[in-house]
Amino acid sequence: MDKEITVKNERFAMTLPWYAMSADQVMSRLETGKEGLSGNEIEKRLREFGLNLLSATKPRSPFVRFFLQFNNVLIYVLLVSAVITGILGHWVDTGVIAGVVVINAIIGFIQEGKAESALEAIRKMLSLEATVIRNGQRMSIPGEEIVPGDIVSLVSGDRVPADIRLIDENNLSVDESALTGESQPVAKHIDTIPIDTPLGDRFDMVYSGTLVTQGNALGVAVATGDKTEFGRIGQMISDVREITTPLLQRIAVFGRWLTVGILAVTVFTFLVGTVMQGYSMADMFLICVALAVSAIPEGLPAVMTITLALGVQRMARLNAIVRKLPAVETLGSVTVICSDKTGTLTKNEMTVQTVVTPDRTFEVTGTGYFPAGEFYLNHHMVEPYRYPELEDAIHAAVLCNDAVLQEKDGSWTVVGDPTEGSLLTLGMKAGVEPNVQRNLEYRLSSIPFESGHRFMATLNQDSQGNRYIFIKGAPETVIDRCSDERTEDGKRPIDRDYWHHHIREIASNGQRTLAVAARKVSPDTTEIGFADVEHDLVMLGMFGIIDPPREESLLAVNQCHHAGIVVKMITGDHVETARVIGERLNIGVGKPAVTGAELEKMDDETLRRTVEEVDVFARTSPEHKLRLVEALQANGEITAMTGDGVNDAPALKRANVGLAMGEKGTEAAKEAASIVLADDNFSTIAGAVREGRRIYDNLQKGILFLLPTNGGMSLVVIAAVLLDFALPLTSKQILWINMITATTLCLALTFERPEANVMDRPPRDPKAPPLTLYMVWRIIFTSFILMLAALLLFDWELRNGQSLQAAQTVVAATIVVGQMAYLLNCRFLRASSLTFRIFRGNTTMYVAIGILVVLQLMYTYVPWFQEIFDTAPLSPKDWILVFAMGVATFLIIEMDKAIERWLAKRNGEPDF
Ligand code: ATP
Repeated sequence: MDKEITVKNERFAMTLPWYAMSADQVMSRLETGKEGLSGNEIEKRLREFGLNLLSATKPRSPFVRFFLQFNNVLIYVLLVSAVITGILGHWVDTGVIAGVVVINAIIGFIQEGKAESALEAIRKMLSLEATVIRNGQRMSIPGEEIVPGDIVSLVSGDRVPADIRLIDENNLSVDESALTGESQPVAKHIDTIPIDTPLGDRFDMVYSGTLVTQGNALGVAVATGDKTEFGRIGQMISDVREITTPLLQRIAVFGRWLTVGILAVTVFTFLVGTVMQGYSMADMFLICVALAVSAIPEGLPAVMTITLALGVQRMARLNAIVRKLPAVETLGSVTVICSDKTGTLTKNEMTVQTVVTPDRTFEVTGTGYFPAGEFYLNHHMVEPYRYPELEDAIHAAVLCNDAVLQEKDGSWTVVGDPTEGSLLTLGMKAGVEPNVQRNLEYRLSSIPFESGHRFMATLNQDSQGNRYIFIKGAPETVIDRCSDERTEDGKRPIDRDYWHHHIREIASNGQRTLAVAARKVSPDTTEIGFADVEHDLVMLGMFGIIDPPREESLLAVNQCHHAGIVVKMITGDHVETARVIGERLNIGVGKPAVTGAELEKMDDETLRRTVEEVDVFARTSPEHKLRLVEALQANGEITAMTGDGVNDAPALKRANVGLAMGEKGTEAAKEAASIVLADDNFSTIAGAVREGRRIYDNLQKGILFLLPTNGGMSLVVIAAVLLDFALPLTSKQILWINMITATTLCLALTFERPEANVMDRPPRDPKAPPLTLYMVWRIIFTSFILMLAALLLFDWELRNGQSLQAAQTVVAATIVVGQMAYLLNCRFLRASSLTFRIFRGNTTMYVAIGILVVLQLMYTYVPWFQEIFDTAPLSPKDWILVFAMGVATFLIIEMDKAIERWLAKRNGEPDF
């Protein structure tokens, strides 16, 4: 069998392409039918054709990746230094410098690999799900398991998982820009097309990697994996994931300028040394190499990359899956979050509590989807079957419905739309068995629900051959289309005031509203379109559905308010429902709510004013979201926007941070978004903002910590030349300090937890430079403190008759211990480190300090190290002095922080 398929495929390649065959021909060629493939066959084909995956674009070879680590100006300077020391015959120095360069490349290589695989793992979390028909059953499978011959079902918002010949379609349009570059959606049909049709005009096919923008369809997969058109052009669907963000780019630019600065200072020092101080050229060369080497922050790129990668990994664990890395930084600047209501702020666990018919209002008991509950009329329990108009409304709600209820171990869940699920539960409470009813009155045609038109309609035939159209949707939409209403024993002209009054009443309890209506049509009707549900419908009833807010939403909204972020709710629900739910969640309290219809009438200027004042937007369509984002951005707001549908994609793309729903979101929304919320939960957004702010803080802390080491050591060397005394540190000693402090201590900062006030401060101004004036000052100030500490002890040692080697070893120890102390200062950007919290919350810090202590002891006492680095053993007295200098450094920097806090407070700046 396996063989036959291959043969068939080969033969097919020589005869007719799939698009030039009729749908039936294609199915018989692939030995499949509308019932789909069956178990055995699927496995065989999976073995035959392999997984439906594109072989990834060829990864760079590890060899190339390793050598790219050297492609960095800072490293060039080191390499030149190695050559110069070599020429001067200082082979040990050359060896150490070369060693540092290699170690640096290895660290960079490993970190980069780790970061890439972390991001790759995150990308995999977003893998595609596809709906197929197999063994006559509709089921959801991972997109990679699709095989040729599978019957695939597509709805708007889906990404097409394979190349598919259409069998059936309903209003289908597909965005093929990924494949053909054509930005307008293309309408599809199922009629066979001529053999010489170019790719862009093959209307009976849909291609892997394109997006369904409208309608729904059924088709047969004809090509998978690399055999698809997408695979043939050798592209990756996933976006290129560069490990960079605006901050990192700015740091790279900074690195280049820093190098220019370092070279300038080095040349200047060289001239001063040779011309004014009378050093020999060779000596001055060595000193200048030491200077250049001391000033270069070799560890910086690795620290930045790993901070980001670890942060993104943590965010994924918190259910926020980052698709576009710059979003991590933008999160910290977000000033407005626009959130959907249903399922994001609320639980999406719907229960019908009220049913209104033209003459009566019933209350229904029970919670969740468990189908047990009673009907009450005027506080008296009643039997639903005594009220035929109630039964009709419930029948319509069950038939015009795609959801399925499932029971497992006594707990009931919905497959499909929870709103529809709640109607099935209602039906079962009234004794209507959904499956039985759906078989008795089977469906012939349907118009699926979309947020844009806010209704769904079906055409059903009952056991007597009568055909009816049922429509269910937002009550205002349904009422407009009705001419009559169903009474106990017939119908009468619709009383619109009655219904509108009840809509408001139900909505003011925070319940969602939904109405059903019907119309009898002639028995030869086989299809329905929008024109069939425009008018002359008979209103059957209306439902009030509760959807309780998530407990954690209120907390998260309040957290956002504290963090200076305004939360706005944008929902398709009724304005009153939205207002009440908003109030319960502390959104838009005491402010007016605005509807989509009102938004449409506003010009841009009015809209800009409105978006500042209003927090609840109801009965909106996805198109309104784009206008809202644009208006907010025009007001200077940095906007995060949630969305799930295909029509939400433009708003998600436009928003500064687009957030797509992982569970109920379409592929189109996910692809447009920069972050996917795996649990669709609003509180995840607040968590992501917190994490985004933490990552940015930690990137800043990394820079703030690392640069003074370089600054301090450069100043030590420059001071030695200017003041004309022996070099307190040689180039290899400097490299030792640079490497070990960078790789051990600084990495500890990447694990730093969020600061206590991380969600109490306002959003960061996105235009603010990555380093504030204060931070630049801190780097310079700390450099001076470290230099001072080192030189004081250097001088003291020499005065007390110690050897130069011993004095140099003390200098190295002073800087390393000073850095350990400074690490404690840096754990909190501005907040005081004179607290017991300094000992908690970051165990990696202890590990790093422990490793550093061992390394520094080896550097000082192990003969082999003494030989390479020209070090000498230190006495306990030396260590006491070094330690005292460390404590002094810590206290002085704390004083500086305190002054800074005081100044900030006096200027009314936020406290961070
Ligand atoms: P949000 O945008 O916050 O997620 P939502 O999910 O309530 O809100 P929509 O799904 O656009 O927004 O629903 C808008 C209205 O359409 C609902 O208030 C309801 O009246 C109606 N509606 C919702 N789901 C269905 C459905 N499956 N069939 C028919 N009508 C529906």
